[in-house]
Amino acid sequence: MLKGKTALVTGSTSGIGLGIAKALAQQGANIVLNGFGDVEGPKAEISALGVKVAYHGADMSKAPEIEAMMKFAADTFGRVDILVNNAGIQHVARIEDFPVERWDAIIAINLTSAFHATRLALPAMKEANWGRIINVASVHGLVASAEKSAYVAAKHGIVGLTKVTALENATSDITCNAICPGWVLTPLVQKQVDAKAQAMGLSNEEAKKLLLGEKEPSMQFTTPEELGALAVFFCSPAAVNVRGVAWNMDGGWAAQ
Ligand code: NAD
Repeated sequence: MLKGKTALVTGSTSGIGLGIAKALAQQGANIVLNGFGDVEGPKAEISALGVKVAYHGADMSKAPEIEAMMKFAADTFGRVDILVNNAGIQHVARIEDFPVERWDAIIAINLTSAFHATRLALPAMKEANWGRIINVASVHGLVASAEKSAYVAAKHGIVGLTKVTALENATSDITCNAICPGWVLTPLVQKQVDAKAQAMGLSNEEAKKLLLGEKEPSMQFTTPEELGALAVFFCSPAAVNVRGVAWNMDGGWAAQ
């Protein structure tokens, strides 16, 4: 379905971003990976799906590096047809204890980077009159939890950015939608499981159950594969009139 298209997925060396990159590659899209840590493993996984893959190590907190990444993607594959703004970090603390530097980093990486990548991707999408922008927000773009002020602010912000991007391009074949996962067992969440296990003297399994029980009625983690399937749907012709939605995949979290 996406043969000949190019998808750039930020923060795709791990977790949800890698899951979405693989799902888009399975549909034939060439992939530009981004993120820190192991790069060769994810590159090999994407190559094995029979598409072209490139990597750019831009730090999403730095506008000039995002500009370099977008230029690299265009130089390598012609243009970015599908942009997935996924890179994100977390920090958990009450507002009065929240490190200012962590607030700035979360807003930069989880919100401002999506503005930069979107503004840089849109001109070529408009020229082609086709584009898909998918923002990985969170159920925390819809509801809040204590001790996650920066994350909740950034995720509510990206849901707003999603709507504006959708509206400004509503008469073209460029759509923008957000995905709002509940708990997904990636390194970002494993850190929170570990913190709970340590603080309460629990096993890994007990801490996972407690985390799910607090928020997610299905008692199941959403998987990167499920999120990848939703991203593929947003890229499909059937989704052409799905515009500006914030679609939760959260086991009923926000339904409560
Ligand atoms: P993860 O830690 O597994 O992956 C994060 C990715 O972002 C990695 O590839 C990492 O290298 C990259 N990254 C981090 N800082 C970066 C920076 N400055 N520049 C470039 N890349 C950077 O986390 P994940 O759980 O897969 O999270 C991906 C997205 O999904 C985030 O936006 C997160 O907020 C969102 N999300 C996660 C969950 C969850 O339960 N895991 C739930 C809802 C939303």
